[in-house]
Amino acid sequence: MGKLYLVATPIGNLEDVSPRALRILQEAHMVACEDTRHTQILLRRYEIRAKHLTSYNEFNHKRQVSVLVGQLDRGWDVALVSDAGTPALSDPGEALVAAAVAAGHDVVAIPGPNAAIAALVASGLPTREFTFLGFLPKKSGERRRRLAALIEEGRTIVVYESPYRVDDTLADLAAVAPGARVAVARELTKLHEEFVRGTATEVAARYAAQRPKGEITIVIAPAEATEGDG
Ligand code: SAM
Repeated sequence: MGKLYLVATPIGNLEDVSPRALRILQEAHMVACEDTRHTQILLRRYEIRAKHLTSYNEFNHKRQVSVLVGQLDRGWDVALVSDAGTPALSDPGEALVAAAVAAGHDVVAIPGPNAAIAALVASGLPTREFTFLGFLPKKSGERRRRLAALIEEGRTIVVYESPYRVDDTLADLAAVAPGARVAVARELTKLHEEFVRGTATEVAARYAAQRPKGEITIVIAPAEATEGDG
């Protein structure tokens, strides 16, 4: 029986990869990548000649799940990597993991970079309890309702966001929770890494004036309780 390895890869800085991750990529019979060209950049940097590369992404994952479980059945070890960070988090990897578990295969996580955790720990906001959402709904009304309900729960919230929607999302947040505390993490681990911190109103105004470029993770916490509250 083969093993399915979930190999975390860098979210920008190619130095952020563990020796174990590199060894697994070298040794696995097959490496399933969100985008083989993207993964090749990492493999070339570390002079790894993977035995077989195949693509596994949102467009082909339904078909590829049975192909890859078939490889595990014949005893091949399969390493799954996403374009950035930890596979199976907000990407189609989840379906492959569920199928591999259902078929009785071992699934081994090779931990490493993850944008949500990197943004959370450097946000300056409470980390004790948090809710990770992946991506928010694309429609403004739904997004506002979701944000309002989550803020009400009182935990820190971590969301992934596209640079094309970050201004709208922050405007929605400012509408439902103007005093919420926000840290927008952009281009984590890269040359132009940046954190923008402030209240929802302040941060929304900043991004309304200029849409950001690059990869974005947003960390949100309810407004700090002031004396006499609650
Ligand atoms: N599985 C990945 C992980 O472990 O971080 C995340 C996959 S998710 C489809 C991709 C999203 O993660 C991006 O749209 C962005 O919101 C966030 N992200 C990825 N790299 C980032 C970076 N360097 N800085 C900030 N956010 C990042």
